[in-house]
Amino acid sequence: MNSEKPVCWVCGSDELDLIKRSDASGTLSSRNFAITNFDYGKTGELRKCRQCGFIQCTDLDRVVQYYEDLEDAEYENTRKERKIQEEKLVKVIARFKKSGSLLDIGAGSGIMIEAAMERGYECTGIEPSKWLQQKAAERNLPVVQGLFPHPQVQQTFDIISLVDVIEHVTKPADLLVSVRKQLADDGIFVLVTPDVSSIAARVLGYKWWHYRFAHIGYFNRKTLEHILSRAGFRIIRFIRPSWYFSLQYLGIRFLSFLPQFMRFRVPGFLQKISVPVNLRDSLLAVCEKNDTR
Ligand SMILES: [Zn+2]
Repeated sequence: MNSEKPVCWVCGSDELDLIKRSDASGTLSSRNFAITNFDYGKTGELRKCRQCGFIQCTDLDRVVQYYEDLEDAEYENTRKERKIQEEKLVKVIARFKKSGSLLDIGAGSGIMIEAAMERGYECTGIEPSKWLQQKAAERNLPVVQGLFPHPQVQQTFDIISLVDVIEHVTKPADLLVSVRKQLADDGIFVLVTPDVSSIAARVLGYKWWHYRFAHIGYFNRKTLEHILSRAGFRIIRFIRPSWYFSLQYLGIRFLSFLPQFMRFRVPGFLQKISVPVNLRDSLLAVCEKNDTR
């Protein structure tokens, strides 16, 4: 719990209105922070900035420990679909940079790195979870355990990616400044995060799948542009990425929205079928430095 008055992580204003009370009862654990956790709608205390509209969690400020101890077998089980998704992302990157060095921050078990290496990029990943880093190491993928900035990763990169990470950190502006420091002057920075102003988010309200304990910062296009520009980035392209899921995974997720008595067993063979889903509720921003002096 932070006793100081919270300030907006995007614009620095201290005019934050309480919009949602915390759902936490008792102590949280790494389980609440798993990538595939689906306690949708359960969050810490959320406040909205009166100046810029950014929504942030104001009672969970020591989240790093949860990521270090995180284990997520279900995430590894969906590796095939996630790989297709990461290949699409690498294709986007290739439109702007065909080769070079790439740093993936929050690399997980190295799925994106694997896809990028297959296209000839020289890759490095940084991942806080010891378990996920181990999974990457078992596949000989160059992912180091820890946080960014990392003492073993001091060089600059042609490409830095931050995919579904910024919504998990308490100091997003500091993180972006560090990214800029390690990005080559002609480098590109690729960021993906859920869009709290998307139609899906508006229609579902707090039932939206991205409202969860692990998400402590809720961006939309405007707040993302704001924080990026303050950190010294210019957005050169906005894309709404598709995600790939197996039909079985989607079935289970869909059923979680229904009352218990309406749920049924999802047939196992659906695991084999992967489909793209574009709910247009994610933002992918391709950025460059706005001033290289
Ligand atoms: Zn603000």
